Amino acid sequence: MNDLQKRSWAEISLPNLKHNYSHIRAALPEGCRFLGVVKADAYGHGALAVAGLLQELGADYLAVSCLDEALELRQGGIHMPILILGHTPHEYTETLIENNITQTVSALAKAEQYSAAAAALGKSLKIHLKLDTGMSRLGFLCAGSYFDGGIDNLCRSVVLPNLETEGIYTHFAVSDEAGEENERYTREQFSLFCRVIDEVERRSGFHFAIRHCANSGAVVNYPEMALDMVRPGLLLYGYGDTSGRLELRPCMRLVTTVSTIKYYEPGTSVSYGRHYTTDKRTRMGVLAIGYADGLPRLISNKCSFAVPGGLAPQRGSICMDMCMVDLSGLNQVDVSSEVELFGPNNDIYQLSNAAQTIPYELLCAVSKRVPRVYIE
Ligand SMILES: *Cc1c(COP(=O)(O)O)cnc(C)c1O
Repeated sequence: MNDLQKRSWAEISLPNLKHNYSHIRAALPEGCRFLGVVKADAYGHGALAVAGLLQELGADYLAVSCLDEALELRQGGIHMPILILGHTPHEYTETLIENNITQTVSALAKAEQYSAAAAALGKSLKIHLKLDTGMSRLGFLCAGSYFDGGIDNLCRSVVLPNLETEGIYTHFAVSDEAGEENERYTREQFSLFCRVIDEVERRSGFHFAIRHCANSGAVVNYPEMALDMVRPGLLLYGYGDTSGRLELRPCMRLVTTVSTIKYYEPGTSVSYGRHYTTDKRTRMGVLAIGYADGLPRLISNKCSFAVPGGLAPQRGSICMDMCMVDLSGLNQVDVSSEVELFGPNNDIYQLSNAAQTIPYELLCAVSKRVPRVYIE
C-alpha cells in the first residue's frame, strides 16, 4: 500500500490462514476432502488471494455463492474444482460447462432444465444435489410428508442425461449453537440426510461420490458428520465461537488511523444528531473510518477500539467516512497512530454484539474502499 494513502486498511494474515487450514485438516478423518468456502470475496478476505493459497496448500474444492464469483476465480487462474452454492439460471449452462464449474441443483425442475440445456450443447454439466433437511432454504424437500416425493424426484434427477451427479449435500441451521434442542435438531437433519441418501442409492443403484454437510459449526461440534467432505467458511478465517477449540487464529485485522486530535470543554456535543456530549475536558480523536468502510452505525457510542496504550471508547454517531474516539489519558496516541477496530487486540465479538449481529456480517461488510494488505 502507498504510504501516502494510509487511511484505513484490512490486514490479512496468510500465515494464519495456512495455520487454520492445517489445523482443521488435521482434525478430519482420513480421506475426508476439504472444501473452502470463499463466497462473498472469501468473507471479505479477498477471494483470489484465499483461493490461491488454498489451491497451493492442496484443498480439494472451493465454494462460492454465484456464477460471477466462480468466474472471478477461473479468470484469476484458479483451476481446482469450484461449487456454486446458489442458483444459476439454466441459460448459463454453457458458461458453467466451459469453465468447469460444478452447479448446485436444488429441485427436479431445475435438473431437467440443466439436462436439456447441456444435451442441446452435446455436453455434460457437473452437479451436486442439495437437500432441504430443515434449513428451509434451497434444496429438494424431503422432510416429513415430503420424504417419498423427495426420494422420487432425486431418483429421477440422477438418471437425467448430460448431468454428471458428483455429490449430494445439505446445510445445518444450528450446528454452531449450544443447547440440547439445537443438538437434537442437528442430529435430526443429519439422520434425515443419511436416510434419503441410503434410500435413493438403494432404489436407483446410483452411488454419490461426495456426500457433505459439515459447515464450521459441525466441523467442530459434530466431527462424526464429516462424511466425504467438510465445508468450513468462518472457521477457516479463524472466527466463531468454536474456532478457539481448534486453536485457530483470526486472519483479518481491521485498522484505521487518527486524522486529528482536539481538546473539547465539558458540555460539547459530538457528531450528527448530538448523541454524545462531553462530561469532562476531553481529548477527542477523529478516525478515518466510517460506515461506508463497513463500520456499522449501530455501534455508535457502544464500543471501544484498540490504540497504543489501551482501549479508546467511541463517541457520537459514526459518520460515513469518519468517527470519533475519546483519547483522554491515552497519550501515546498521536495523529497518524494506528487504531485496531477488530483483530488480535480487540475481539470482533465486542463489535458484533454491539451491532446486534454476528462476526460474519462485520467481515463481509468491510467495503471495497478498504484496501486488503496481505501479510506473507
Ligand atoms: C456459507 C455456507 C457454508 C459455510 O458456512 P460457515 O458457517 O461459514 O462454515 C457452508 N455451506 C453452505 C451451503 C453455505 O452456504
